[in-house]
Amino acid sequence: MVLSKLPDVGTTIFTVMSRLATERQAINLGQGFPDFNPDSRLIALVDEAMKAGHNQYPFMPGVAPLRQAIADKIETLYGHAYHPDTDITVTSGATQALMTAIMATVHPGDEVVVLEPCYDSYVPAIRLAGGTPVPVPLRTPQTDDPYYRVEWDRVRAAITSRTRLLLINFPHNPTGAVLNDADLDALEKIVSDTGVILLSDEAYEHIVFDGVLHASIARRPALAARSILIGSFGKTFHITGWKLGYCCAPAALTVELRKVHQFMVFTVSSPMQFAVAEYLKDPLPYLNLPTFYQAKRDRLFEGLKKTRFRPLPSPGTFFLLADYSAISDVPEAEFAKWLTTEHGVAVIPIAAFYGKPDAPSSNRQMVRFCFAKQDATLDTALERLQRV
Ligand code: PMP
Ligand code: GLN
Repeated sequence: MVLSKLPDVGTTIFTVMSRLATERQAINLGQGFPDFNPDSRLIALVDEAMKAGHNQYPFMPGVAPLRQAIADKIETLYGHAYHPDTDITVTSGATQALMTAIMATVHPGDEVVVLEPCYDSYVPAIRLAGGTPVPVPLRTPQTDDPYYRVEWDRVRAAITSRTRLLLINFPHNPTGAVLNDADLDALEKIVSDTGVILLSDEAYEHIVFDGVLHASIARRPALAARSILIGSFGKTFHITGWKLGYCCAPAALTVELRKVHQFMVFTVSSPMQFAVAEYLKDPLPYLNLPTFYQAKRDRLFEGLKKTRFRPLPSPGTFFLLADYSAISDVPEAEFAKWLTTEHGVAVIPIAAFYGKPDAPSSNRQMVRFCFAKQDATLDTALERLQRV
């Protein structure tokens, strides 16, 4: 038998729920991906790139036009100038960027502070690097404040002399929480006091609602100087299956990231990189994304209000949470499976984003709905949910 390096890790909750949804022919509002196609122009650009001969190994850190386009977008939106040659690496999605960043920086015995609930790939990556995850819970919604929030004094208190990284993710999966200017102030203070490296997963940077601007760490020079910024084109351009993302960091850190990147994947799909580089010349597709998704968020939110679920506000991402305590008191994973099987709508239990998914404290009778779906899909799901 193989001596497992991750003995308590099973198949991801996203795969488990998608498989169940397929088996039961349920509407899949679980795993986060759109049920519609990307812009046909983007698809045509891939075709053009292939016909133009971009079919062999591209340059290891990513093709020059894409790194330039990423640099330009970040500088225009957030003000920080990453150098495309020394600071930007194109990755196979944010997932690989995260694994690369953690493998390159975390040594055995190091601690990594993560916010709970936390995206499922973080903790296994930290453990594979020999590090110890140190979870800090987000403050859960209160009656007078229905948002998840970071309690920065708790983050500060979790940092020790062994802390190598502070890993944050805003807009936040699964809660939809976003940061504001005061949060960036607090973060700047923590990072400058402690000297930790900040790893910022901004996969949902272009999905922030209600006219709010995304609080990227690239808006603050002091943060950018000691951070690794991760992005993904999967959510932004409706291409989660293309697996294209990036990692931006100061040159000295990027040298280390690329040492891992070159042996993890070496490089990523060439025609997709050229196509996205060209597509990025027009900012409208990502600038219009909040309006596009806000309508879907509101459709789902309003629809859920007519059911026995109690939806929570979602300031960002393409997810929203809903409380099911008026329907059932079973633990979240059991409820998600029951809803999929009996009512034909798949969702994700929030407990799966906690280190102890079976603990009562991780089970707050809350599930995550993905609204990156055609309106007709959402409407059919809502009809089913009304019968619950
Ligand atoms: N980080 C977060 C917070 C995510 O939600 C996801 C995927 N939904 C990823 C990283 C992975 O992104 P990618 O598909 O680009 O690997
Ligand atoms: N990030 C997606 C989600 O939260 C899932 C991606 C995956 O399945 N790895 O649903």
